[in-house]
Amino acid sequence: MSEKFCKKCNRESIYGICEICGGKNEKKVFCRMCNKEIEGEKCEMHDLGSGFKTGRIDMKHYYEKAREKLGVLRVEVPELIKGVRGTSSGDHDLENLVKGLLRAKYKLCVNKDGTIRYDMTELPLSHFKPREIEVGVERLRELGYEKDCYGKKLERDDQILELKPHDVLLPCNVKSGDERADDLFINITKFVDDLLEKFYGLDRFFNVESREDLIGQLGVCMAPHNCAGVICRIVGFTKVQGLVASPYLHAAMRRDCDGDEAAIMLLMDVLINFSRKFLPSHRGGTQDAPLVLNGKIYAREVDDQILDFELVDYYPLELYEKAEKGLHSSEVEIEMVKQRIGRGEDPYINTGFTHDTDNFNLGAVCSSYKTLPTMRDKVESQMVLCSKLRCVDQGDVARLIIDRHFMRDLKGNLRKFTQQSFRCGRCNEIYRRVPLDGKCSKCHNPKLIFTISYGSIVKYMEPAMDLVKNFNVPEYIGQDLVLTKRYIESIFGKDNEKQESIDKWF
Ligand SMILES: [Zn+2]
Ligand SMILES: [Zn+2]
Ligand SMILES: [Zn+2]
Repeated sequence: MSEKFCKKCNRESIYGICEICGGKNEKKVFCRMCNKEIEGEKCEMHDLGSGFKTGRIDMKHYYEKAREKLGVLRVEVPELIKGVRGTSSGDHDLENLVKGLLRAKYKLCVNKDGTIRYDMTELPLSHFKPREIEVGVERLRELGYEKDCYGKKLERDDQILELKPHDVLLPCNVKSGDERADDLFINITKFVDDLLEKFYGLDRFFNVESREDLIGQLGVCMAPHNCAGVICRIVGFTKVQGLVASPYLHAAMRRDCDGDEAAIMLLMDVLINFSRKFLPSHRGGTQDAPLVLNGKIYAREVDDQILDFELVDYYPLELYEKAEKGLHSSEVEIEMVKQRIGRGEDPYINTGFTHDTDNFNLGAVCSSYKTLPTMRDKVESQMVLCSKLRCVDQGDVARLIIDRHFMRDLKGNLRKFTQQSFRCGRCNEIYRRVPLDGKCSKCHNPKLIFTISYGSIVKYMEPAMDLVKNFNVPEYIGQDLVLTKRYIESIFGKDNEKQESIDKWF
């Protein structure tokens, strides 16, 4: 942990601010070779100096200080307080325990960077009606939705509006099995308000009483493997379990489009609780952290795919005629974002749509990818769907699943297996290499176990083999899979005791 010092109280502390007098603590520098505190920035003998040391923390002291700060009785503190296990940042800085106690009060989980996140599948939306998002027309007019997509004044809840590029809907569907995002965000605002009031001594900011108060609040959307978040505004709710937002926002969230999941956070939570100091110091540690926030989407600067986004109300007859002749799609002139940008026009208005719906909440509200339990079920269902679609090449879909997903997972885990660390089954001590006597050096337990198991390597082997067997997959992919299987067998031996269905013999 990082250790600091309060001159006034003449005592050590794990926090940047003294938990007793509230003054700023001074940094301490340690040399890990001398195993003690040193003067100056670096140890003269070893040329080492860091802001942390290994030691025991007086948990009771910090717990009592946090409890006093919040002004709650011991019986009022939640029984279970969860946090992030261990620290992996450069200086091993710690968050104040007050934040952990308050999150536990509202049953909130924390991400390694100090933020609270809600993960969803990304879904694009260009238009909506007020009644579909369960927000009154008056409130929507206040938010800037003064006119419908035909230029008429917004007065009724069945008029169609163009979703603005930074606006998002929160999923609120009990049937999806996920927590409702409106409930979660109400709790986050309460957590932030308590934090501002009791920890920072400031005024409460949100004072949310019902979910209607969430409308107009700002959040941050982030895609995986990214370090830039896009600021968004909550404008309504949906029964669809996904991050329903404008195609522009989805494009702004990522530059390489290699995924379809995103998280949403409350902007205030990010501003107060996110810290670079919690991020892992190893390479890639800054991934998935909101280091940069994008406050205004410029269509020309986001992911290129948005340039091909079509802005029409209908497709011309010419498109169908040329399609019949098998001509390339570029032979038809369709208004797209790139043309608008080229002419210097606003690509966010008059985006058009081809098919109207009565209510978009009546379709599929939860992806079957979530409800199907195993990977095998998911793949089987996907292939059943592909076989029903005339325009889909099943062999190519099978190839993509194997090549892009299964193979990467198989080879990735196989690589990790050979570089893995070992864990003591009794005391959970982690070893990069097994100690020479084969026992845990802490508790002398001889049972040291793998952190990457055989099962996690071969879990997709069978579904991948099934695809090769049942569909017309390119020879190369099939052979690559067989070779990988042989390689796995050369390390682990052949799988003799495989359980098989008895059907096979009849
Ligand atoms: Zn002090
Ligand atoms: Zn030293
Ligand atoms: Zn042990």
